[in-house]
Amino acid sequence: MKNNFAKNPSVVVIGAGMTGILMGIKLREAGITDVTILEKAHKVGGTWRENTYPGVACDVPAHMYTYSFRGNPEWAHRFAHGDEIQSYFETVAKEYGISDSVRFNEAVDECHYRDGKWYLTTSLGNRLTADFVVAATGILHHAAYPEIDGLDSFKGDKFHTAHWNHDVSLEGKRVGIIGTGSTATQVISEISKTAGHLTVFQRTPQWVCSVPDKNYSETDKARLRGNQKLMTRLSERYAFAFRNIFTAAVTGNKLAHAFVNWTTRRNLRKSVRDPELRAKLTPNYKVGCKRLIFSSTFYAAMQRDNVCLETTAIQRISERGVVTSDGTEHALDVLILATGFHPFNFMRPMNLTGRDGLSIDSAWAKKVQAYRSVCLPGFPNFFLMLGPNTPIGNYSVIAMSEVQSNYVLKLIDQWRRDSLETVEATEEAKARFNAYLKAGMGKTVWVGGCQSWYLDPDGDPAMWPYSWEQWAQEMEEPDLGDFHRGLPARIAPAERVPPQPAEKAA
Ligand code: NAP
Repeated sequence: MKNNFAKNPSVVVIGAGMTGILMGIKLREAGITDVTILEKAHKVGGTWRENTYPGVACDVPAHMYTYSFRGNPEWAHRFAHGDEIQSYFETVAKEYGISDSVRFNEAVDECHYRDGKWYLTTSLGNRLTADFVVAATGILHHAAYPEIDGLDSFKGDKFHTAHWNHDVSLEGKRVGIIGTGSTATQVISEISKTAGHLTVFQRTPQWVCSVPDKNYSETDKARLRGNQKLMTRLSERYAFAFRNIFTAAVTGNKLAHAFVNWTTRRNLRKSVRDPELRAKLTPNYKVGCKRLIFSSTFYAAMQRDNVCLETTAIQRISERGVVTSDGTEHALDVLILATGFHPFNFMRPMNLTGRDGLSIDSAWAKKVQAYRSVCLPGFPNFFLMLGPNTPIGNYSVIAMSEVQSNYVLKLIDQWRRDSLETVEATEEAKARFNAYLKAGMGKTVWVGGCQSWYLDPDGDPAMWPYSWEQWAQEMEEPDLGDFHRGLPARIAPAERVPPQPAEKAA
């Protein structure tokens, strides 16, 4: 592609999941030819490659969960199954020539900035130098294992949902599952069909909204084939509904919240007839405080004869099963941990240092924050996709990545035309941005009296508290006043504590 820029940067993209593929496509479209994509695994797909548990699906409608420029007429379900999504990303990566240029089975171990360049060392011992680094490393990929006494003593089969052991058949077995989040509800809906007996260990009930699935017929698919316009219209319709109902409901729109509250409570009332079970499944916090669960199958699964809901606290794990605080030992053959992820690990275990030896652990020692989610002061020419306070939630994370990738490309363009010597947001801009976020949190539902991965260790939501439209509009053009012009002041040695050994990925 011909362009009028003075410079053509070298860019390393870390990760070939949904965002890494997108960045590869966008960088090439922008005429940037020196792009290296490094992927730790053997194929593209990120979270959809990793999560293969029974029932894995996306609870955002499939036609909305696609790249805006590449609709998919082949979706078989309104809520696409994991393997369909994986296959979509593999197809798009191939079509756009991304898969051929990814270096697979090569993780980034070290990533250090010095005098205008990034120096990377990979797991294969290779060294790379780049002008820019884009961390497309995803959000929820470090499985969280519960801190329960005796967890390792269990003699049966045990695994986390993110590392499903497909060699273990559940048919006819006594299965226990810890957790009732978005993942667990999908797993429970599926495995309750075959397990001999399933005990669901619930610490906190969840609000569940029913949006029925739909199978797309061959006629439906034929209508969409070759018609990107129609697919875009379909996607926009879903996005409009999700934004104005679910996103609005959690960010302070009272009417939207009243509606979601009503429909969610009604779903529980209508779906679960037994008052005792219903009481156990009823949360005591606001609808939407934890990520809202979309499922039209979970409550039915919980009422199968072979399923039992256990709400007594877990005391410990024994060799034979789970012991609850009332002294009961629930004997199990298989124990499934649907206990979620460490949401603030981001690029770990990569060892990352920015300008003047500032390590990411030092930069985030007090709080995990960024400027506009993607820029980290002290880390010039480095972008963290889907970073803190991205408006994740019940919406398409692909749409978020597209907005952020356009923003990042505009910043790289500033460097290409020499308007910015390096792209680095100032500390003041970050502080101002985070104060602005904090000011909006009070009216959101996340401060509605629950615990969830949305909250950071200080109890502050790491979310975007305003509307989607406001976010997209503010991300439209970078405000160059928030970036360093010329050489920034050196980072004080006190802030440069040596890098800590990064937490290993599970
Ligand atoms: P999660 O929402 O963090 O849920 C973890 C579950 O494990 C909770 O029920 C939690 O209980 C329970 N738990 C954790 N530690 C425990 C302990 N020590 N003892 C007892 N229970 C314990 O994790 P997730 O279900 O994997 O979902 C994480 C996120 O992944 C979602 O919010 C969503 O963003 C994403 N996701 C998306 C989809 C999709 O369809 N788009 C599907 C799956 C996941 P408490 O509630 O009491 O903490």
